[in-house]
Amino acid sequence: MRPAILSRRFLPALSIWMVAASCTGLEPSGPPAGAVVLTPPPEYAVWYARTEACAQLQGGAHEIEWYVVPDVATFETSIGEKVGLWEKVGHLSRITIAGDYVGNEMVVRHEMLHDLLERTGHPPEYFVNRCHLTWDSWDAGAQ
Ligand SMILES: [Zn+2]
Repeated sequence: MRPAILSRRFLPALSIWMVAASCTGLEPSGPPAGAVVLTPPPEYAVWYARTEACAQLQGGAHEIEWYVVPDVATFETSIGEKVGLWEKVGHLSRITIAGDYVGNEMVVRHEMLHDLLERTGHPPEYFVNRCHLTWDSWDAGAQ
């Protein structure tokens, strides 16, 4: 009798654990903590076109899902504190911007350039020479 009682008690706990485990399995890379969907402001279309022009690459602005972490200067990611983050999720790009920087052309276009290049890392040919989309090169390249 005692083993039967024990297994009844353990069963609910086990099924909760399995649900939790499958959730993390299906969504290994959700948006950063605190991020909410951002409707891209109208100037983002202009900024995307500018970034396409300097990189001489064509992308798909409509294939970007925008997120914002409201009211912060940086947010936590698996690769440290960031003001912006680009991730590839299936065929979509997910870009998350810290709330303080949603109106910052350099920060937003920096992430757009990741989208156009479809890569992490910062090849200087694009991020510095062509588009001036790093903190150091931005002022120097302002027109
Ligand atoms: Zn970057």
